[in-house]
Amino acid sequence: ENLDRAVRAFPEQDALVDRATARRWTYAELAADVDALALGLLGLGIAKGDRVGIWAPNCAEWTLTQYATAKLGAILVTVNPAYRSHELEYVLNQAGIRLLVAAERFKTSDYAAMIDEVLPRCKELERVVLLGSPAWDALLAAGRQADPSPLADRRRELAPDDPINIQYTSGTTGFPKGATLSHHNILNNGYFVGELLNYTEQDRICIPVPFYHCFGMVMGNLAATSHGACMVIPAPSFEPGATLAAVAAERCTSLYGVPTMFIAELADPDFERHDLTSLRTGIMAGAPCPTEVMKDVMGRMGMAEVSICYGMTETSPVSTQTRADDSVERRVSTVGRVGPHLEVKVVDPATGRTVPRGEPGELCTRGYSVMLGYWGEPERTAEVVDAARWMHTGDLAVMDDDGYIGITGRIKDMVIRGGENLYPREIEEFLHTHPDILDVQVIGVPDPTYGEELMAWIRLRDGAGPLTAETVRAYCTGRLAHVKIPRYVHVVDEFPMTVTGKIRKVEMRAMATEILG
Ligand code: ATP
Ligand code: MG
Repeated sequence: ENLDRAVRAFPEQDALVDRATARRWTYAELAADVDALALGLLGLGIAKGDRVGIWAPNCAEWTLTQYATAKLGAILVTVNPAYRSHELEYVLNQAGIRLLVAAERFKTSDYAAMIDEVLPRCKELERVVLLGSPAWDALLAAGRQADPSPLADRRRELAPDDPINIQYTSGTTGFPKGATLSHHNILNNGYFVGELLNYTEQDRICIPVPFYHCFGMVMGNLAATSHGACMVIPAPSFEPGATLAAVAAERCTSLYGVPTMFIAELADPDFERHDLTSLRTGIMAGAPCPTEVMKDVMGRMGMAEVSICYGMTETSPVSTQTRADDSVERRVSTVGRVGPHLEVKVVDPATGRTVPRGEPGELCTRGYSVMLGYWGEPERTAEVVDAARWMHTGDLAVMDDDGYIGITGRIKDMVIRGGENLYPREIEEFLHTHPDILDVQVIGVPDPTYGEELMAWIRLRDGAGPLTAETVRAYCTGRLAHVKIPRYVHVVDEFPMTVTGKIRKVEMRAMATEILG
């Protein structure tokens, strides 16, 4: 529906550009390929409610599969491209995938071999179609020749609250959960995200964030098609140079990323060589955004209207967003305010009571965006979605008098040192002001005296001198309360990360225990 509207309104407008293969589609061409694929899938017996998996890095075929399955009312299961055979097997069986569309290989990942390995243990998986293979071409060719009338019949069977997508959460805090989302959930979310960015058919959106995650698929693809804007895929997976080159070559007006991606782009040795003057807006989301990085994104990258979004897979994803006319101050210190037709509240996690404005508590959200549930896991759903349909996010937040929300951390990341609640985010923000520090993460590590102690993991800027626990502590002394000064400092090249570019503090905590003996 979303795509059809764009096709009617802007048939000749660019819809999709895949830079890795230098192919491009207008809306009319995209619609024709989507219909062909949908008819091809129908020919394979794919029907409403069937689970179709997609396991591939970002590419145009990913987007075609997304829209084709939606037309049939099939449920697209977006499989993380970083998964290996063990995780693939889990998802195939957990979601009961009938058909898997997959890349043959990418970089060092031999997807085809991993599929062969798990196949005997995946009883519901009937068919695998590898992208670019003769089977894929045959599917499209069959669809192009088929009678198109069954598509209209399928469409009449669809209801807004039917499930359309299963997305596994990032696995930042533990094993991923399969959030089941409806047409109503994700179409509305994509539409409103685009509305608040003032998207029109003139916009060209550079999407280096993964499609398998709602950041790419909903805030990227669905926000674009619901406003007739163009989706630009800079590369199959994130590369700072390719992203900057795509913005320049395609005159993109909008660029997406998690903070670590913007940090990498700004630190790219060729940064100054790319013409980024077409950029007006974009989204930074998924993790806390350091103030220094935000200033550079708005200044050096020219994204003066950049929006901060907060959300989670379970809520389609976006719940709060900054608006184009919000002050710089709000953009750096809050994740905006609640989106249209949604509710938010901040509660005391112990009692469930709403706390006074300005006091920290757990953020809860409610409205059209809340998932149907975790696929096949009603108990885990009930742990996070209560009887009144409030989603308990597990995030710590503060709401100001105007309704703007500040995220202060995750309940699971909060450090309790000697009975005092410490928020790593605040300490990270401060350490970012140190000229030698490129990026920093603060975690709690077990301590016999205080229960937990703070440990800072630091990535140094190129050419920066060595940093020791003493020099870092000296820098903090007099500027940070004594209890917030990290006891340990650990210098690293990279943080352990999820493919969505989020830092896995669980893994860091496990590694820290080893490092500290
Ligand atoms: P898992 O639930 O498997 O541990 P995850 O929560 O990281 O992984 P996602 O659904 O991808 O999986 O991410 C949602 C989380 O990302 C939110 O709960 C919040 O902690 C964090 N987040 C999202 N946007 C922001 C933001 N703008 N600022 C700070 N944190 C954010
Ligand atoms: Mg989560």
